[in-house]
Amino acid sequence: MAASINRRNFLFSTSMPAASVLVGAIPQGHSKPVDPIGTFEPFIQRDHLPDPVIIDSLDLHERDDNWFIRARSKDGAEAWSVGHPGKMELSQRVFTKVIAPYMRGKDARDLDQLVDGVFLSGSNYKMQGQLFWVSLAAAEFAILDLLGKIAKCSAADLLGGQRRRQIDLYIANNHRSKDPRESLRRITKSVASIEAKALKIKIGGRMKVVDQVPGRTEKIIPMVAESLGERCTLYADANSSYLSVKKAIEVGRILEANKFAFYEEPVPFDYLDETKQVAEALDIPIAWGEQESSQWRFKWMVENSSVRIFQPDLFYYGGLIRSLRVARMAAAKGLDCTPHISGGGLGFLYMGIYAACCPNPGPHQEYKGLSDNFPWESTGDKITVKAGTMTAPNGPGIGVNIDPGYLAKANQIK
Ligand SMILES: [Mg+2]
Repeated sequence: MAASINRRNFLFSTSMPAASVLVGAIPQGHSKPVDPIGTFEPFIQRDHLPDPVIIDSLDLHERDDNWFIRARSKDGAEAWSVGHPGKMELSQRVFTKVIAPYMRGKDARDLDQLVDGVFLSGSNYKMQGQLFWVSLAAAEFAILDLLGKIAKCSAADLLGGQRRRQIDLYIANNHRSKDPRESLRRITKSVASIEAKALKIKIGGRMKVVDQVPGRTEKIIPMVAESLGERCTLYADANSSYLSVKKAIEVGRILEANKFAFYEEPVPFDYLDETKQVAEALDIPIAWGEQESSQWRFKWMVENSSVRIFQPDLFYYGGLIRSLRVARMAAAKGLDCTPHISGGGLGFLYMGIYAACCPNPGPHQEYKGLSDNFPWESTGDKITVKAGTMTAPNGPGIGVNIDPGYLAKANQIK
């Protein structure tokens, strides 16, 4: 506890602009601060929910390699979310043995505190990383669905207010194994498929300097700029490719010459000082954060690194509330927070909720396609993607219902 108080004081004394938005009163009923880096102003708008919503159960179900989470309240309300398509299989025991038992009996309206509380319970903090946070994110989405269905409002409204009806997209591409000409053909096709106004290409070798197709990076950047630069905003993702700051800056200069709008993960993601050096040397904004799992390191990077776009993954970082906290930290510095998303599952939906309620999500959100892996329908406006934009989810809870007949045949994981 003493360490926790000292760290909160440190936050107050060193970062007043961020502190002024980050640190707020501890909600009623909670005398103990639970986050070691400071208490965050809650996002959940409790005025929609006058009565306690006691969580009775959180169960995990699987069908066709899709992972479904059912949340039930003591009063008999029921809600569902969909977990990360790949990682939930790996982290299912974290969900059933750690996350679900912690949430049982808690008031779902305290969700802001619960996402910290489960991390700080016992030695759970030692599991910090992707497989812990993906399980928590899946639970958070189901609890948001429960709260929203009870309050008859959207998750975006619950998290601060529905600001947008349409979400502008950038289409993500991943063609590292293809030569520049074939890469461009595929990128052009993907742009046409949704009439995208923005796109992202992969450059470098992904965690290694050498391209799979030798010389691809130096060729694909100007080819994409020449072919699509007039009608699209261009982004590039190096996926931690460049081991030296010098090489990362050289590639950054090529992107600048071709008017790219951000340069993601130029050096290995945990090379924090090298990321800062690259960001300080270049004019093109550096984007970073997809692999980050720590609130404290995000705070340090927002305040010290010269990175200009922050990219927590809505699953890998533990859900909407934690990601919206990063956005608040970034907003205090006048910066954007544009999450990374994973394809499959309902990644597009959670992205849409985030972008619908976040004040500073940046101009375009990552898009990897709508899901057709299981039957779902919007409970609000029909969710469509055209002219480079997606309808923001606005139905109650997370804004979709998954076919109950389909879910009835899923296997519950014990
Ligand atoms: Mg990336």
